[in-house]
Amino acid sequence: MSNYGYIDLIDALKQSDPLRIFRSYAKGKSANKKQWSLIRQEIIALFFVFLAFASCSRREQVPQSQWADASPSAVETPELLAPIDSAHKEENLNAVLTQAEISQDAAENIMKSAQKDSAFSDALASATAGDPFLYFLVDKERPLPEGYEPDDLVPLNGGAYQINRSDLRLRKEAADSLEEMAAAARADGVTLLVSSTYRSYDYQVIVYNRNVREMGQEAADRESARPGYSQHQTGLVVDFGSIDDSFAQTKASEWLLANAGRFGWSLSFPDGYESVTGYRWESWHYRYVGKTLASFIDAYFGGIQQYALRFIYEWEKGASLDG
Ligand SMILES: [Zn+2]
Repeated sequence: MSNYGYIDLIDALKQSDPLRIFRSYAKGKSANKKQWSLIRQEIIALFFVFLAFASCSRREQVPQSQWADASPSAVETPELLAPIDSAHKEENLNAVLTQAEISQDAAENIMKSAQKDSAFSDALASATAGDPFLYFLVDKERPLPEGYEPDDLVPLNGGAYQINRSDLRLRKEAADSLEEMAAAARADGVTLLVSSTYRSYDYQVIVYNRNVREMGQEAADRESARPGYSQHQTGLVVDFGSIDDSFAQTKASEWLLANAGRFGWSLSFPDGYESVTGYRWESWHYRYVGKTLASFIDAYFGGIQQYALRFIYEWEKGASLDG
């Protein structure tokens, strides 16, 4: 085979011209062994080039969706999971804040805090780690469990505080805290008068019906709960002093506003929040929530107990849906 025959064959192969390949082959019958070995190498190399090309064209024909199915690892890398996960958490938190109708200020602060570090979720976890009735949401729309009655009520005998009747009872933990708080108030020259505490469902029936009789349905609903919907039924609530607006003018009220939180007590129905709590301002009505929850309410919810309890309620509802 002449040099021309060899070059022509390679050229023909490259152009995939079968007729020229045959002619070149025929022309080069006389080629020596060395030349044929070179030709074989070229043919083998071209065969691999052809294989690679053919496999590429086949790939192009595979529908896109099949490729997605065929390589799931491409969308499930750990690098991608982290941001998606935290974005979902942020979405959940935002949904809970909206659902719980938290004030815009508090909601923005909470979102900012949650984006920064885990301080908020840690505080939430501690605030809800103990007795669930400390943060149980009971308001105009959400009653206590039917027939609820605390099993650790203790009578109040008056120690550091005064009592205005003999049948007052609180849950043990609240009673102990009240004693501690009243001793601190007394040290500051303030005497706390305890006027109303635990009310059973049946007793609330009497209180509510009397209020309706005396002031009419609408006025009664502004300041007394229907049976089953009263915070007093938790055994964690104290009404102090005169149980009317004049209490706000007393030293005891001033002292409680400044100090109750550090003993775990929280004003349930503050001034200006009737649209949030459902109740008009009650300067005398404090609920024991424990020290951890009290500081959670102050730190993240501007001291508004209803916001914090509503947040926890919606948060747990969301969590139970997830789980
Ligand atoms: Zn009350």
